[in-house]
Amino acid sequence: MHVLILGGTAEARALAGLLHGTPGIRVTSSLAGRVASPRLPAGEVRIGGFGGAEGLAEWLREHAVDAVIDATHPFAERISFNAAGAAATAHVPLLALRRPGWVPVEGDDWRDVASLEEAARALDGLGDRVFLTTGRLGLATFADCPQWFLVRSVDAPDTPMPARTELLLARGPFDLPAERDLIARHRIDVLVTKDSGGAATSPKLTAAREAGIPVVVVRRPPVPEGVPVATTPEGAAAWAATAARPGASRVR
Ligand code: NAP
Repeated sequence: MHVLILGGTAEARALAGLLHGTPGIRVTSSLAGRVASPRLPAGEVRIGGFGGAEGLAEWLREHAVDAVIDATHPFAERISFNAAGAAATAHVPLLALRRPGWVPVEGDDWRDVASLEEAARALDGLGDRVFLTTGRLGLATFADCPQWFLVRSVDAPDTPMPARTELLLARGPFDLPAERDLIARHRIDVLVTKDSGGAATSPKLTAAREAGIPVVVVRRPPVPEGVPVATTPEGAAAWAATAARPGASRVR
């Protein structure tokens, strides 16, 4: 049985580790190729886009894929949409693996927004010093903002940035003492984050709560309609083990 994992997340790597070496299962992980030196999962790896939903459907057929697990980042909306289309076209079962989103606790001052554009507008009146952790891809959205930004990303952005920006190249996980220190040292007034979920980058939320600063949280796009969801790599691995059996439910 050949399982394709659409990856780019820690959960995708964990899933590949669980499936790799399982008798009867061949696993291939696919990465977009955005990060210069990605952490590679166990098993076979292919890198680069497929050429839209049609290209992915073709790839599924050519490589005799029996099941697809979309374990991409919750904000990687296009590939998830393409995966739903391709799986339906190729009649291959599809599961989405999504870590749970973050939930505010007492003492949090979160401002929910639906997009990066809305996040940029929500900064008005929240202070001059912004800690921006939404990644380099959407950075251009903030390019015209007048505030000072501490921008943290894995690789250097190649898009327009706000005029007053300090760049911090770093890859998680990040721990609480370091996040506290960043917020204090840079006298941060407001944090901006996507609702990525997971423990690797959540200490910034605790540090923001402790510092009493607001957090602008960009909420997730929905999983494509009709696609079942697992929230853990173990749950996704269990699904994969049964997905290609005769009579298993197929997502179209
Ligand atoms: P996206 O907007 O959903 O996808 C854009 C295009 O990139 C897709 O149409 C596809 O190209 C290609 N692509 C994306 N993921 C791929 C994969 N796993 N394997 C092969 N091709 C892929 O995605 P994105 O937001 O740019 O994210 C790119 C990758 O970075 C994702 O795999 C995601 O898991 C990871 N990531 C994203 C974020 C985020 O905040 N968006 C954060 C951390 C990690 P074709 O149409 O040519 O197939």
